[in-house]
Amino acid sequence: MPTLLDAATPVTDTVLTAIAHMPTASLPVLMDDAFARRLRDADFMRIAVLLARKSRSEGGCPIGAVIVDHASGWIVGKGHNTLVQEGHPYNHGETAAIRDAGRIDFGHTTLYTSLSPCAVCATLLYMRGFARVVVGDVTNASGTEPLLREHGVRVDILEDPQGIEDYARYRAEQPQLDLEDWQGLRSHHSE
Ligand SMILES: [Zn+2]
Repeated sequence: MPTLLDAATPVTDTVLTAIAHMPTASLPVLMDDAFARRLRDADFMRIAVLLARKSRSEGGCPIGAVIVDHASGWIVGKGHNTLVQEGHPYNHGETAAIRDAGRIDFGHTTLYTSLSPCAVCATLLYMRGFARVVVGDVTNASGTEPLLREHGVRVDILEDPQGIEDYARYRAEQPQLDLEDWQGLRSHHSE
């Protein structure tokens, strides 16, 4: 069956936004193999940034993640932080994408995250044996990259300027929410 996105479709932000919003299991309805194989690191990172933007539009923390299978080039998991949306104290972009992917071998996948992972997510990423992690923002947060590398995960930095700008704006607008996401509500009473 012909799909909306194929070998001839230009890769634009509009197209990547549709991919970000589409449930992972339904992506084959939207795009074919030829289109999937044309997506590059920067495109997957932009999808993570657009998932972060989706979260922000829902009133949540703007962090998104995408997991891609090396052999097929297909997205096998994606998601965003749901601290606000689900009242979930530790569902970060990375954990949301991992839960979406389910019980697969992450040793043949790359995870793209719009923001440098927290210590908990970094630990989960090496414990689940990810082959590679691509980080889209080490300007607003950083520090767990050496931990990942020490445990054999290949880490590449591929900053997305739009994602960095989005996160900086959010942090300026909602500093309390940003602190809660990283340190819990205890952080509001520590002074
Ligand atoms: Zn995290």
